[in-house]
Amino acid sequence: MANYYQPQFECASHEEIRAIQSEKLVKQVKHVYENVKYYRDLMDEKGVTPDDIKSIDDLHKLPFLSKADLRDAYPYGLLATDLKNCVRIHSTSGTTGRRVVAFYTQNDIDLWEDCCARAIVAAGGTKEDVCQVAYGYGLFTGGSGLHGGSHKVGSLTLPMSSGNTERQIQFMRDLHATIICCTPSYAAYIGETLKEMGISPDEIDLKAGIFGAEPWTEAMRRDIEKSLGIKAYDIYGLTETSGPGVAFECEAQTGMHINEDHFFAEIIDPETGEVLPEGEKGELVFTSLDKEAFPLLRYRTRDICILSREKCPCGRTLVKMCKPMGRSDDMLIIRGVNVFPSQIETVLLNEGYSPNYLIEVDRDRNTDTLDVSVELTPEQFSDTVKEISAKEKALAAAIKTMLGINPKVHLVAPKTITRSEGKAVRVIDKRKLHD
Ligand code: ADP
Ligand code: ZN
Repeated sequence: MANYYQPQFECASHEEIRAIQSEKLVKQVKHVYENVKYYRDLMDEKGVTPDDIKSIDDLHKLPFLSKADLRDAYPYGLLATDLKNCVRIHSTSGTTGRRVVAFYTQNDIDLWEDCCARAIVAAGGTKEDVCQVAYGYGLFTGGSGLHGGSHKVGSLTLPMSSGNTERQIQFMRDLHATIICCTPSYAAYIGETLKEMGISPDEIDLKAGIFGAEPWTEAMRRDIEKSLGIKAYDIYGLTETSGPGVAFECEAQTGMHINEDHFFAEIIDPETGEVLPEGEKGELVFTSLDKEAFPLLRYRTRDICILSREKCPCGRTLVKMCKPMGRSDDMLIIRGVNVFPSQIETVLLNEGYSPNYLIEVDRDRNTDTLDVSVELTPEQFSDTVKEISAKEKALAAAIKTMLGINPKVHLVAPKTITRSEGKAVRVIDKRKLHD
């Protein structure tokens, strides 16, 4: 049965949500214009003033903000309030090599934790639950965000942080954790470790997992659900918009509801900046409607996504986003072909391999090379050399069918690819190192 944390917003009519968004946007634009010189200059350059923004329909008049702007303005340039009103900072994990520092007032923290609480309740969380938070704590937003959300729900919170997997499993069993929150790659690793320890999913009390902060495929979801004996829910967010909880999955598991009373989402054509109609694929752009310390108007996430307003069986009316289909800056161009690592992962999992893999791209005499190393399970590893080499060929052919380019596939021994306790590193582009 569906449960909501804040049904007045999660199940509001579209008109009610639009009214909330319009009211908040008008205030937010004034707040930013008055307090953030960096953005005021962008607005002045475009000839827009706060008076031009009368409702959410006027949003398209505002200029975009990009990661490059955040870098330029580092560290205080986009701060919209006095530092003395701020109580916390967080910073990006630097997946794309550039750090961003975000500031929070107490009210910002409060609203962010509400968003995370909505995600936990949507995954079936209540006061009765024991919520194991195995996202990293610290500058990374994952740990603190879900921790705060779990407190709001009233669950018993286990602030484990990531790592020390055997201890995670011991606490999970001794304290009867029912919900676990971590990155999907770490969830897969915990599942693998359970198996190695000879513990079956029936011997633990977990019923749900809330996994996000990095891309993962449906095939990986099925693997994790099986290995931990749970239902796995996706959660999305980025440091720039507070952290996880911008969008969360419900029991329908068909996309994530965006907390659009706090974050307005647009899909744009990444080339032209034109706003695309609902249902079209493009770059996700967020406007924070009520953040005080670090409000971002029309922030380009670089995540490629589709929005949908189709009626959801859970009863929530919040717009849904699909799983991000890779970041526009994650995309590799190999021999002129656009390749998203998630496409390769999908092939591997469909062909029965583990999600432990490494993609290496290099350049040999002006030609791009693509090497995919995939770890075998102990059972698969007992095959003869001849069988393994036949499997390498078959897998290379399956990847070629998906991408149109020929990779070199290396099936490697179990446990030879480094595991991740946070966000997985699955791509090494050596071409950048030579340039
Ligand atoms: P960094 O940019 O350093 O990774 P963040 O930790 O803020 O910093 O990461 C935010 C990014 O993580 C998002 O823009 C998105 O690309 C990715 N992400 C977060 N949640 C998900 C998710 N559920 N599915 C896919 N990608 C996600
Ligand atoms: Zn739903």
